[in-house]
Amino acid sequence: MSAEIIDGKKIANKIKEDLKDEIEILKKRGNSLFLSAIQVGENPGSKVYVRAQKKSCESMGIEYNLHQFNENITQEELMDSIRKLNRDPNVSGIILQMPLPSHIDVRKLQQLIDPKKDAEGVSPTNMGEVVYGKPVLVPCTAMAIMEIINSTKVKLYGKEAVMVGHSDIVGKPTALLLLDKFVTTSVCHIATGERGSLPSYVRNAEILIVAVGKANLIKGEWVKKGAVVIDVGINRVKGKIVGDVEFEIAREKASYITPVPGGVGPVTTAMLLKNTVEAAKMQANK
Ligand code: NAD
Repeated sequence: MSAEIIDGKKIANKIKEDLKDEIEILKKRGNSLFLSAIQVGENPGSKVYVRAQKKSCESMGIEYNLHQFNENITQEELMDSIRKLNRDPNVSGIILQMPLPSHIDVRKLQQLIDPKKDAEGVSPTNMGEVVYGKPVLVPCTAMAIMEIINSTKVKLYGKEAVMVGHSDIVGKPTALLLLDKFVTTSVCHIATGERGSLPSYVRNAEILIVAVGKANLIKGEWVKKGAVVIDVGINRVKGKIVGDVEFEIAREKASYITPVPGGVGPVTTAMLLKNTVEAAKMQANK
């Protein structure tokens, strides 16, 4: 059996198409659709990401503005810039570009973002709504993963899922969203790997999601026959972008699998647009 390869771009295009009408309505009513990004320092990876964000926002008619700060900016100065964006009626969405310098307390910044302008779903209020099963603005990658799983039409109730990776923006929210669909969900992390237990977890996964950032961490041979495999990892190997799963072997065992690139990435970008539109709607109804 060879898996169906999930086309992330196609799913992303459908999301963007569906957003067009909502954007038009907001614009006709004179509501603001304006995403403001904060970036500190000169990280090349983050620069590429910012350029891509700007392009995708502008292609949808969403205004995008980057606030670029020097490495030496203080915590208080950054907090002030967020307070200003919170107060600015023209700004409908705020996004903090990672990484931030080590002297900056990221949590404090995330806590300060107005939950109604939180385009990445990282504020404690929005994270809390995910825990309560009433998600409003959800971290974009976790939403993208759920959208991709839904696109397979695989019934979720009672399934066994394994989430490898427990980051705040991917692993933890995805596990919570799966739990809400009555999926029995195990979360694995570095300690699972060090203990040598990763293969036994992966072998039982009917839905396998991997967000670690280590090329070929998940051996294709471990993948359960018929599993849905979502590879979130992004790794540069010999000038090529690859995921965390041994793709060629895994695809022979899985029923559905996401490629890297072209899988989770484009859907995550589309979800940022969706959150930006949701945030703008909340501003409009304030
Ligand atoms: P992170 O870097 O914050 O955390 C990595 C996770 O992997 C941790 O939970 C850690 O415990 C776990 N881990 C590390 N080594 C392990 C091992 N040997 N066995 C099992 N678990 C191990 O994670 P993140 O920010 O969620 O990013 C993960 C990957 O996903 C990165 O490659 C990142 O670039 C990629 N990513 C992609 C998208 C996208 O849209 N495609 C979005 C976000 C992140």
